Formats: sequence, structure tokens, C-alpha cells
Amino acid sequence: MWAYPFEFRPPPTAEKDIKFLVKWCEKLGVNKVFFAVRRGIYSFHESKILPQNPQFKGFNLLGKIVKSLHDIGVEAHGMVVVSPWVNLREKVPSDIDPCPPFLRRRDWLPVDRYGFREDEAPFFGRTYDLDIGQEEVRQFIAEYVRDLIEAVPELDGIHLDFIRYRYWKSTLKIIAGPGSEFRRIPPSPAFIKMTLSRRLLNEEEGLKLAYKIMDVRNAGGPPFKETEIILEREYLYCFCEKCLKNFTDKTGIEFPENLKTTDEKSSWLLEKHKEALIKFRIDNVTDQVRKVRKVMDEEGFNKPLSAATFARFPPHGTTDTKPPSEEDYDKILYTIAQDWTSWAREKLLDFAAPMLYWMPPQNILVATLILKKRIGKDFPLYPGILTADNYKYKPKWLLEAAELLKENNIEGLTLFRYGTWCERVRRNLGMKPIYRYEKTIKRIKE
Ligand SMILES: [Zn+2]
Repeated sequence: MWAYPFEFRPPPTAEKDIKFLVKWCEKLGVNKVFFAVRRGIYSFHESKILPQNPQFKGFNLLGKIVKSLHDIGVEAHGMVVVSPWVNLREKVPSDIDPCPPFLRRRDWLPVDRYGFREDEAPFFGRTYDLDIGQEEVRQFIAEYVRDLIEAVPELDGIHLDFIRYRYWKSTLKIIAGPGSEFRRIPPSPAFIKMTLSRRLLNEEEGLKLAYKIMDVRNAGGPPFKETEIILEREYLYCFCEKCLKNFTDKTGIEFPENLKTTDEKSSWLLEKHKEALIKFRIDNVTDQVRKVRKVMDEEGFNKPLSAATFARFPPHGTTDTKPPSEEDYDKILYTIAQDWTSWAREKLLDFAAPMLYWMPPQNILVATLILKKRIGKDFPLYPGILTADNYKYKPKWLLEAAELLKENNIEGLTLFRYGTWCERVRRNLGMKPIYRYEKTIKRIKE
């Protein structure tokens, strides 16, 4: 089961919440908990690299959870999120201590294919990722794992989440009219930046987005009538100067002199050397996994390394009932560069929890079997099932999925996440339960 610090109320109530977690795991037969050790810039262990969450300062939430779960024989793995590091909803005090290096190093933020660095147009307007195309950044993330192992050596393993690039692509159509303020609609390639006035904690930050004008139909001049502007945002990174240089160094592919802007360079790469670019990005992510494994070995931490991985991307939207296919995995390699079955074959990973989200039970099985076929049947898989407010997973489906997986000798399943499956946690946090799952989960245990 995946669990997160925000599912626990600050001390002293946290003690009660930890006791309840333990009881719940025991009652329902949960035998591994992957606990997120960080939220935004804050750690939930005594870290030398990141500040502790102010609400939990001096409480050692992670240490207490690990100890309490061990008392009943449940494994506790430290879940390390690799991609997003800064949540813009959280206010960062100016006297923060220790001050994480990435708050000073804006050159550690990725640049998208259009040339916008992430602080100009943050992912979903909310978070900053780190640029894992840079060796220095990957080493920093590995050092954070070392920091975690040294602070909480009792952990039963390290679990990587968001171990990938992030990606999204969307197209908007604007009908302009009369649109006099434009005087003329700029032709492609030009960019439109938007700031939605959504209030975040850092109030000057709105929801910033940047779109490329791809096409203008019935342009004319003002007053515009039936003029269509097609906008696109493909959030694909990183195309910073360092990554472009690394790409050339690794592949020998030089950029023609006439290409000036990042947009021109990325478009040229995608047109002429897409395969090389995909491989370059995959290698960066795989190297991150290798660096984490190396730190674990150096620390003598001989425990499993695992990851939350993908079978299909994007996982949501209209594709959820489409049967899984072999091609799903190949698309992942372009979008998020997560070739995790190769990590399994290379023995970098000991097991994986592919996130299948809200696929119907039969599709959960099909996707899992496709993955097993790629890796080998002996590699342990614990497919992850999500329930959430907007995707309520029926209790009946959960039971069916569990039965199908068991019949096919799959090692288990992972619940995503504690706070959505457990009605008590929902109530504690002031939310209505999604369903009453306890009976079903108990039946799975039996
Ligand atoms: Zn870069």
C-alpha cells in the first residue's frame, strides 16, 4: 500500500493516526507500506539536505511509522519521489534551514521543448521538477537516498516514485472575435502565455501556462470573425543548453548552425533524430536508478529497491476501458522515458508496482501478463489499483481483480493510496468516504 504524510494529522494526533494505520494493516492483511518520505521541499525524517516539515518538527513521523509497522511484522519502505520537488502551494520561508540546493539553482529546473524554463510555466502551474538530464542533479537525488538510509536504517527497502520525466500534451482551440486588441494574430511559431488568477500560497504565482500557436484559420484582420487559433502545449523536456550539449556529446549529432531557438532545435531533433532523443532520455532515467542502487550498495543497505511504474500513459481520460496492448509500453518510452522492464532485467529492481489505476479487473490482469512477458515470469509484480473521488473503484471490482491476479500466480496487488481506501482517514481529513472497502479487503486477505 502507498501512504503519504498528508494522510496523518500533525502531533499529538499523529500518534493516534499511526496506531490506526497499524491496526488497519493488521486487520486487512497489508504486508508492505511504501511511505512517501518527502512532500515538496520538506522531509519527514531528520534530513541533512532538506528541512523538516514545520508541523512535524522534532516528531520523526517516518521513524515512528517504521517502528510501529515492524512491531506487527509489516514491511516499511521509504518512497522517494524523483520528479517533482517544489510544490508552489507551499510557502517557503526565507530563513529555511537546511536550504535545499535547488532553491538557489534555477539552472537545475528543466526547459521544455518550446524553450520555457519550468519557473516560467510550471507543470500544471503547481510544481517544479528537477532536470534529471544533468549528472549533477541525478547525483543529488541519489545523495538524498543516502541521507534517508543513514537517518532511518531500519527501512525495509527503497521505493522510487515518479522515476521518469513528466509529460503532457494538450491542444486548445480559441475562436477569436472581434479580437481587436490583437491587431493581427501572429502566425506560428509564436507563443501565448496565460496566467489564471488562481490563488496559491505564494500569491504572486498564478497558474501559468504557455502555448504555441500552431495554426490560424480565417485570419484576416480585426474585427475577426470565425477566426480559429489552434494552440498546443507539449510539455516535453529537457532542452536546456546543458542537455543539448550532453546529447551531442553522447550521440555525435550536431545541431545545424541555422537553428537558433530552443523551439527550432527541439522540432529538428524530433523530426530528424527522434529515436536518438528517446534513447538519450531513457538513458538519463535509467542512470538515475543505477545511481540510487549504487548508493544503497555503498551504504551496505542490502534491501530491495522497487518502483512505482507505468503500463500505460496517460493512465486517465478516455483510454481507461480500452484493452491494454503491447504498444502501450512503447508509447511510454517517448512520453516519460521510463524503460523500467529493462531495470528489472538488469536486476536494478527487486520488484515493481505498475500503476494500473482504475482499469477494469480483466484489463488489470491483461496488462500485468503483458508486463510479465517482457520481463520474465519470476520478477515480482504488485499491480497498483487506485480509488479516488473522480474514479471510484467498485469494491466488487477490487475483489475480482484480486481473484484474477491470484489465479494467475501474480504476487499481489498494491492499494493506491491509504487515505482513499480507508474511510477513517477520509473522515479524519474532513472528506466523505468513497466506498466502504474494509469488508472486501478482508475477503481478499482470506
Ligand atoms: Zn536540461
